[in-house]
Amino acid sequence: MWATTFAFQPWHSALELKRYNSRFLHEFSRIQTLEGVERTPMNQYDSIIAPIIEWLKAKNVQVSFGCCVDDVIMDEQSGRLTAKQISYKKNDKMEIVTLSPSDLVFIQNGSMTDASSVGSWKKPAIQKGIEDAKSFKIWEKLASRHEQMGNPKSFTKNITESLWQSFTVTMKNPALFKAFTDYQMNEPGTGALMTFKDSNWLMSIVIAYQPHFVGQDKDTQVMWGYGLCPNKIGNYVNKRMIDCTGEEIFYELCQHCRIAPELVHDVINIPCIMPFITAQFMPRLQQDRPLPVPKNAVNFGFISQFVEIPNDVVFTVEFSVRAAQTAVYKLCGLKKKVPKVNRHDHNVYWLVKALKKAFVGGSGTKIEKQRKQKKCGICKLALLAGVGAGIAYLIQNK
Ligand SMILES: Cc1cc2nc3c(=O)[nH]c(=O)nc-3n(C[C@H](O)[C@H](O)[C@H](O)COP(=O)(O)OP(=O)(O)OC[C@H]3O[C@@H](n4cnc5c(N)ncnc54)[C@H](O)[C@@H]3O)c2cc1C
Repeated sequence: MWATTFAFQPWHSALELKRYNSRFLHEFSRIQTLEGVERTPMNQYDSIIAPIIEWLKAKNVQVSFGCCVDDVIMDEQSGRLTAKQISYKKNDKMEIVTLSPSDLVFIQNGSMTDASSVGSWKKPAIQKGIEDAKSFKIWEKLASRHEQMGNPKSFTKNITESLWQSFTVTMKNPALFKAFTDYQMNEPGTGALMTFKDSNWLMSIVIAYQPHFVGQDKDTQVMWGYGLCPNKIGNYVNKRMIDCTGEEIFYELCQHCRIAPELVHDVINIPCIMPFITAQFMPRLQQDRPLPVPKNAVNFGFISQFVEIPNDVVFTVEFSVRAAQTAVYKLCGLKKKVPKVNRHDHNVYWLVKALKKAFVGGSGTKIEKQRKQKKCGICKLALLAGVGAGIAYLIQNK
């Protein structure tokens, strides 16, 4: 469960796994239902990013889209670094921003979705590599020139160990959507994820509450899935997942869910290969991740999943928010405190619950209790109906 929920692989960082075990100890006793998982009402872009962009624009912040930053040039004096120039590409043209020491620069040194590529129903996604990973490229340039910038290669050097593949299924077919939700036995938006534990690709699906996108048609349904071992041959499709078209991946999924073939129509599935999706889990030394504001930095900081924050865990939105808060508060000289990382492993209640779960099996989660109650209710109704029918029979045949 830990592997499929959090995407850990056996070769990933033991230190990060230890941090996860501590950070998510409160989930251990209910890991089989994931009822502790909080969800945004719609997809994360529409629920978080779009409102933030609107809020920033309302404050007259200029946001430039379609720009690809190529480099940040630093001025080094007495061991102190000042960002003095940003070069970026827009519409195939290189542009330059000249900075003064009072300008602040927040650098994205690595993104887990960098160099992602999408395929189609009829075509597999074509895997990309480090040369296409723009955020890691900037970090590589900075680390090759200056101290205290970390070591990006620890995270990017072995793509086969950081790659997995996701897919998005769009249907105009309520019967097919219902077949998936029935198989999953959870209402859309309530079940976090469901993993096919015997799947060679270690496939999971997530059926979100519908509509999942702003503007999604009433008669359209969307679900999402992923395979943590896409370099393996499928159980039903004799190919590696990364070589498969959207159609082939969907066929494999339907076989795992025992979907009747006649239900498969008005559906499309788009595969997406993400070469660096678990790069932040790769084994690391402490100095491999820079501080959000390196000690030698005058006017710049790093905001990403690849900075050093005590006790916090990567692959979470919270980590990036905390990285940004740390960098912004420090560089702006704000007296605000960055929220502490919750230590559930220091909480006796959760420790006892986890111990009980590990050795006794636990007393059942809220969802399980609700299901049990529902089952009991149905049994009681059936019993009453049976007794009623029996009495009626006796009266009639008296
Ligand atoms: C499939 C998936 C499921 C996830 N599920 C969860 C979850 O359930 N809970 C959770 O907490 N977290 C989850 N995460 C993780 C979470 O989404 C990330 O940790 C978070 O989005 C990272 O935020 P970020 O701002 O650091 O980087 P990103 O969101 O990666 O944003 C970086 C941005 O910088 C841009 N950029 C990069 N390089 C350049 C460049 N050179 N020039 C210009 N722009 C550049 C990118 O285009 C991108 O827009 C999930 C992530 C994925 C991919």
